[in-house]
Amino acid sequence: MPEKADAVIIGGGVMGCAIAYNLAKEGLKPVVIEKSDIGGEASGANGGGVRQSARNLKEMHLAMESIQIYGQLCEELDIDVEYVREGNLRLCTSEEELETMRKSIENQKAVGLELEMLDRKQVLEINPHIGEKIVGASFCPTDGHVNPFLVTYGFFKKAKSKGARFFTHEEVKDIHLRKSKVTGVVTDKNTFETDLVVNAAGVAGRKVANMVGLDLPMRPVFSEALITEPYPPLFKQMIGHAKGLFYGRQTAHGSFFWGGFVGTEQFIHRQGKPLFHFIGPAISRMVIDYFPILKDLNVIRMWSGLIAQMSDGLPVLGFSEEVPGFVFATGFSGHGFGLAPIIGRVISELIMDCQTSISIRDFCYSRFSKGRDQECSCQGNAVCTTVTAVCPNKREWLKSI
Ligand SMILES: Cc1cc2nc3c(=O)[nH]c(=O)nc-3n(C[C@H](O)[C@H](O)[C@H](O)COP(=O)(O)OP(=O)(O)OC[C@H]3O[C@@H](n4cnc5c(N)ncnc54)[C@H](O)[C@@H]3O)c2cc1C
Repeated sequence: MPEKADAVIIGGGVMGCAIAYNLAKEGLKPVVIEKSDIGGEASGANGGGVRQSARNLKEMHLAMESIQIYGQLCEELDIDVEYVREGNLRLCTSEEELETMRKSIENQKAVGLELEMLDRKQVLEINPHIGEKIVGASFCPTDGHVNPFLVTYGFFKKAKSKGARFFTHEEVKDIHLRKSKVTGVVTDKNTFETDLVVNAAGVAGRKVANMVGLDLPMRPVFSEALITEPYPPLFKQMIGHAKGLFYGRQTAHGSFFWGGFVGTEQFIHRQGKPLFHFIGPAISRMVIDYFPILKDLNVIRMWSGLIAQMSDGLPVLGFSEEVPGFVFATGFSGHGFGLAPIIGRVISELIMDCQTSISIRDFCYSRFSKGRDQECSCQGNAVCTTVTAVCPNKREWLKSI
């Protein structure tokens, strides 16, 4: 006999867990299916950077709202997620980088972000450990970082305590449709009857979309990271690079996390495996150049993760008009962790009430299926006309049972 589920969320990464928590808080009993472990993919591989700065401006309102939720997440989830809001320094080493940064921060300030340019002396006041080549930086005081394992685990644990059910080491193999509407999910172990499926499958989001006959312009991109042995507390800011070549932070227990790109990820991905012996030293050399004080620290572990990179670098969020009951929450293009709390909230709002408190209009699937100039239905905070066709309105449904 198939099991019945109010909603099935495919993927137990931070997005799936945050969505499950928000839905369970509203009284729904969602099922989360995860083919490996909770947070076993990108959500357990990332740097924990929680930033608004240097984002695509279309995401800025989501990022700014997410920061607000991060501010009270420890209380909400009853767990210390090691959230540190001490700013993000994006370091520049040349006049050219400073100039590019100046232009970029003007655009970000125009949409309401608190951000400033600092000269070398001002950077030294905030972080006295920078190397000699640093000539300035942008500084966003409300950016920060978090422990990604604890955030994902916190959402998972709280969702479970509120009635969400989690099935790990179980893989979704197919999604059943009747007259193009979602009716169920088939895994390698079970069948679930449901009229609502959330695609929170991260880098497998394209494969899951293919299960209902849709496609996404998404490709996997390798990203590698390393962690050092612990060191006494040095600085609290999230560190970024003007050209995005590396990023990192000191963790609560003293280790330094550093991640980076060297431009050969495409090639590496084609080979199907990470190249730690190449990228590890490349990241380390950059870090030593920018923070010479760290030159004798030992790297204790390296790993790689896959980024769900969309062709336009923006996530896909909201209902599919083509397949009623199919919801997208994927394609975060390498910077989704900072957005997780707000994504959990808006996807839940959409499912419960068919509208969101904050616009997600720019992230609809129909930007690919119809083109940018087409209005998305049921994707924003305005009440939309086609909503009844694609939205099960779970709040009304809850009242009726
Ligand atoms: C090295 C690295 C560093 C990063 N650093 C940052 C950072 O500092 N700040 C930031 O904001 N973002 C960062 N990111 C990006 C961030 O990690 C992701 O945007 C975010 O974790 C995406 O969460 P998710 O839940 O969508 O995906 P995931 O965590 O990948 O979760 C998707 C889950 O779906 C499961 N799944 C897939 N297919 C199926 C199926 N058929 N059946 C069942 N389960 C399935 C997978 O096993 C996986 O666990 C980084 C990413 C990487 C790789």
